[in-house]
Amino acid sequence: MSFSTLGLSQPLLQAIEDQGYSKPTDIQEKAIPVVLQGKDLMAAAATGTGKTASFVLPLLELFTSELQYQVRAKRIRALILVPTRELALQVQGNIELYAKHTPITSLAMLGGLDMDAQKEQLIEGVDILVATPGRLLDMLHRRALHLDELEVLVLDEADRMLDMGFIADINKIIERCPAERQNLFFSATLSDEVRDLVKTSIFHAVELSLSADTSSKSSIEQWLITVDKDTKSTLLSHLIKHNDWQQGLIFVRTKHGVAKLANQLQKRGIEAEAIHSDKSQAVRSQMLADFKAGDIQFLVATDIASRGIDIDDLARVINYDLPNDANDYIHRIGRTGRAGNSGEAVSLVSRDDFKSLCAIESRLGHIITRNDLEDFKPRKEVPISILDYVPKNQRSEIIKPQNETQKSKTQNKKTAVNRNQNSTKAAEKSNISASKKPANSLWGSKKTIWDK
Ligand code: AMP
Repeated sequence: MSFSTLGLSQPLLQAIEDQGYSKPTDIQEKAIPVVLQGKDLMAAAATGTGKTASFVLPLLELFTSELQYQVRAKRIRALILVPTRELALQVQGNIELYAKHTPITSLAMLGGLDMDAQKEQLIEGVDILVATPGRLLDMLHRRALHLDELEVLVLDEADRMLDMGFIADINKIIERCPAERQNLFFSATLSDEVRDLVKTSIFHAVELSLSADTSSKSSIEQWLITVDKDTKSTLLSHLIKHNDWQQGLIFVRTKHGVAKLANQLQKRGIEAEAIHSDKSQAVRSQMLADFKAGDIQFLVATDIASRGIDIDDLARVINYDLPNDANDYIHRIGRTGRAGNSGEAVSLVSRDDFKSLCAIESRLGHIITRNDLEDFKPRKEVPISILDYVPKNQRSEIIKPQNETQKSKTQNKKTAVNRNQNSTKAAEKSNISASKKPANSLWGSKKTIWDK
């Protein structure tokens, strides 16, 4: 399939050609026609699948086909909500690229940028606003912006927004949007929390469509190496030097850990920089730009600071430790293997990462290949995972109410775990996290456009 058959007009086709895209990605092929029809959309699409263009291109098409429409002062036609500053800048940068042969205007609104300048830009009205929830609410309270003429609401990386505690902010923003609007909802993973947000806060009774896009998954080769915690940094330096790795994004759970590791690598002559939320927006943006340009070889990052890192040909992601939440692992590895390129995701796993490993491998539905090195064999061995592992905080949900007998509780728990195991496998096929999929949710009962 080509972009021209998707119903996009010449100015957009020209911009796509300028970008060098030869054909639409899976998500674009599926989402663009749905958005053009004005339908609501919910897509399970990981970052790196081309999801940004899948909603930006049809939005631009819809807006350019009504050019006589003049957006009023302090009004916008589309709002794209994103969890982080980096992602806001990245998405707005993409809009500018795709809209360059059209008169459509866009603006990124995020904390850390001058508020007065942003207010001024809004006075004229803007077609598409990309915003983080906090700054947007601030602008709404100051009456620098009104959402009463909003036509399309996009939630990008919705799972991440919930993880970052934006639920109350999102609800406040939605309350200010007109009831009649198009909703486009993108999330790498579809946890129960995400589904609840969809059901109760956003979609009410609107049509749901679900992406089964899995294109990004197969291009990432995942492997791990077991090691003692105290030898991780020596092992990492060894891997970098021995394998002649030229670039990599290294994830560490804490800010402190990020700074420490960058320091250790630098001392061993490896060019590494630390990026985390204590650094100013300007410094972080510059670092990302340098990393993209190849001027920084290894960027050591926390999960949050890494959001919005978008490099088509990033060769590898290194998990220096494993995230507690399996969804974060999916987000992390999605930074490589983008836009049809291949990539590798390497994890350094010590005994205290074991619980996280179980959760991740259960989420993936398979064991990750181990490529252990004799010289770094851990004193504290890392066992092989239990694939039906259920994290402690989710266990209560699979135990029956108190008035049941202990026997039936146990029986029930077993059944739930089995169901969980089966649904995880099924979900992997459709790229949906089904670890706690409710039997009678809208997800289960509605026929969706992309159901196969
Ligand atoms: P996203 O999933 O939106 O973060 O996009 C990931 C990367 O894929 C971005 O750098 C885009 O420039 C690139 N991209 C988007 N669509 C295509 C396409 N059809 N062909 C090749 N690359 C693309």
